[in-house]
Amino acid sequence: MGNGNMKKMVCPKCGGRVFDISKIPKERIDVALKCPRCHNIVTIECSLDHKIKRTTSYK
Ligand SMILES: [Zn+2]
Repeated sequence: MGNGNMKKMVCPKCGGRVFDISKIPKERIDVALKCPRCHNIVTIECSLDHKIKRTTSYK
């Protein structure tokens, strides 16, 4: 119960789900991590906006 607000963050490279976030902070955060599916290091921007606004990736 109470899990309805989980947002799925997806990899900009492969589109796979990399993690869920339950609480979006007021200030925008960038989360950099290695995608478990495609193994690229991707940066995912989380903000109060419903969408992932911009993502970047690099090797
Ligand atoms: Zn990926």
